[in-house]
Amino acid sequence: MKKVTVPFFISHQGCPHTCVFCDQHAISGSSGALPAAEAILAKIGVWRRSAGERPLEVAFFGGTFTALPEAVQDRLLQPLQGLLASGEVSSVRISTRPDCIDDATVTRLSRQGVTTIELGVQSMDSSVLERSGRGHTAEASEAAIRCIRDGGLAAVAQLMPGLPGDTPAKSFHSLKRVIASGAGFIRLYPVVVLRGTELARRFQSGEYVPLNVEEGVQLCKVLLHESMRSAVPVIRIGLQADDGLNDATVLGGCWHPSLGRLTRSELYYDLLCTLLPSATIGLNCTILCHPARISEVLGQGRINLKRLGSRVASVRIKPDETLTKEELVIESFNHCIKGHVVTDLHYTIDEE
Ligand code: SF4
Repeated sequence: MKKVTVPFFISHQGCPHTCVFCDQHAISGSSGALPAAEAILAKIGVWRRSAGERPLEVAFFGGTFTALPEAVQDRLLQPLQGLLASGEVSSVRISTRPDCIDDATVTRLSRQGVTTIELGVQSMDSSVLERSGRGHTAEASEAAIRCIRDGGLAAVAQLMPGLPGDTPAKSFHSLKRVIASGAGFIRLYPVVVLRGTELARRFQSGEYVPLNVEEGVQLCKVLLHESMRSAVPVIRIGLQADDGLNDATVLGGCWHPSLGRLTRSELYYDLLCTLLPSATIGLNCTILCHPARISEVLGQGRINLKRLGSRVASVRIKPDETLTKEELVIESFNHCIKGHVVTDLHYTIDEE
């Protein structure tokens, strides 16, 4: 059963400085004030009622949790202990920076019910990290991922393709390196330029050019494919369309409320193009896919079918529960061909 996440945004709390791209208040639409025990319990109670039987996970997002004074961390986690013991809350997730985690911290958090630690890795390229003002190295990220994994917790690596000095090849190598270090899950957040940040100033002066949506989708498609090949789930692509993200807060970059769907849709389009043999040109075709993937296979506004254009006379799509979410079958008068987005697609990234 899918977990329901009860989010607490503690925007910028514990952060040693503000990174050039970051404005957690804008991203979450929250002031980020640390919640009191009563507020934590009240919010969980509300979410408990609407979650039904689904397990609840409590998450502290948007700040550097482990850089808060230990007493403050304890104050946030303490109200959860009874709920964890009774099973009303099943797990706890926190986010932090790679240079703010060590074995002792992982052990302490694990004892308090934390099961997942999200790391803002952003890039594994030292020049990108430096130009983005991160203040930590790629080696610190590797060490942090290993220490979380060795402590028996799940490590989520957040990557930000398109930071200053980044290239598709650097993003690709960053992904491979976090996977090699033991990251259990990936989040891909191609850069969105938020007003009022240092990155916005560089963007407006022409000093920095972010990826646009099309570039972000094409790059994330390759990164997603590589993660799938490595069996490491990508749990999010693109910032969540929360209240804080709108024309007043977003200045430019790769911002689209359905970036993940656009990205997956591109994978299926590539597979359709790979599978459609020239012998089907002008024929009526049926595409079969898992029911949960119909909208991705169709693409936004049925764009994938439109793009097939003259390659087929007509095309219809049919759900087929016997297929996995990664498979497609194309049937026509004289052909039936099956493909898989992981094994039948091959991407290369130009080295700069
Ligand atoms: S990116 Fe992370 S460490 Fe940097 S300011 Fe934002 S929340 Fe804090």
